[in-house]
Amino acid sequence: MKTGIRNFSLIEEADLHARSYTGTFVIRAGTHFVRKAPNPMSSRAPKRSADPIREMRALYGLDSRALREFSLVPPQCSLALGASGIAYSLARAADLLHDSDLLLAADAWIAAAEQHASSKRAFVSSAQRLTRRTIGFASLPFAEPGLLYVKSLIRRRIGDPAGADAATRQFITLAKTRLSRVANVHLGGLGLALAAKHLATYGSSTRIQTELSNLSHRYVRLAWAKTGAHIRPNQRLGFAHGIAGQVFATYACGLPEAALPMVGQLRDTAIPLRKAVIWPVRAGSANFGAGWCNGFAGHLLMWTKVWQHSRSSEDRELLDRIAWAVWKYRMPLGSLCCGAAGQAVILVSFSSATEDYHWKRKTLDWLHSFRPRWPRESRPQSLFQGKLGLLLARAECEYATRPQFPVYQHGPCLPPNR
Ligand SMILES: [Zn+2]
Repeated sequence: MKTGIRNFSLIEEADLHARSYTGTFVIRAGTHFVRKAPNPMSSRAPKRSADPIREMRALYGLDSRALREFSLVPPQCSLALGASGIAYSLARAADLLHDSDLLLAADAWIAAAEQHASSKRAFVSSAQRLTRRTIGFASLPFAEPGLLYVKSLIRRRIGDPAGADAATRQFITLAKTRLSRVANVHLGGLGLALAAKHLATYGSSTRIQTELSNLSHRYVRLAWAKTGAHIRPNQRLGFAHGIAGQVFATYACGLPEAALPMVGQLRDTAIPLRKAVIWPVRAGSANFGAGWCNGFAGHLLMWTKVWQHSRSSEDRELLDRIAWAVWKYRMPLGSLCCGAAGQAVILVSFSSATEDYHWKRKTLDWLHSFRPRWPRESRPQSLFQGKLGLLLARAECEYATRPQFPVYQHGPCLPPNR
């Protein structure tokens, strides 16, 4: 572990992430700030928020205006920003509450997404600077494979295995073509690998399961062939586009040995900061993020997975110290990708995995009085950038026995040997 640092800069992650889509990712030296987390014990009386699933049902349920009019801001169909994300959230809420109306609403949303999928506004938006050059064709959250992934999950839950298999076959075909970014969870092959691994756990034919499993392994190996096994200067270290996501995907896809050298290097380069440990956004930089996409929360998600395999006391101690970093730098922004929703669901997932429930209680207290901040161009419908992501995160924190970070974390948090 590196020696501690006295001062560091916490970057504005939403800004950072918006820039990263355009390929002009720049950190402005000297203009960063450490943002103090709002004190949950402040003198303002906390307002207890409404039930997140009831709110989700009112906004996007079978009787909702949004479903009737399909009145979504472009891109209308993607998993991160549009109708596929609404469908995914409703399907997960249906699982948590065993609620068939929510599942039917999820099915209606994915059918609507499919119906609009060939429109010009389905996956791109010039106003949002989301073009095919920036999002590609083989991204799970931003392009067509995400829609088919969600459709397959929903058709399986609804009791239509033939429909689920047809969607899975289409997913495989699209996932194999035009892969532009290899070592990237959010914009390329590693997100597809995680989705393929998840689809393979469902009871479809052995042939499809083998094909999905081969696809996930191939994409994980391609990523390591691209990055090598050593951290390079300026390499991204976070979950959405960097090493933490690559290590997580490698473990989740059943190839943990491939990630071990990198896990050791991440352990050695952790920077102590009083009770916490942190990693910068890029190797060697002095800029830090606290959310899921580029920051500490993404590292906590990765190390929870690593500890579930290692069960070592060293990794367990590290987990507590990363959780302290996430907790200390709780974000005022509400989103799943760059803000509090992602931090909360990852803290509660870690709490559930380690059975250290004081973290869950702290996080629920925080969420109950949390008043989110949203960027000016915020789209409430967006799972990763909008209020929908906060509703789903709250549903995970409040209702799930094994809370999951949406889209990328699946299955029980306990290791197979437990
Ligand atoms: Zn982000």
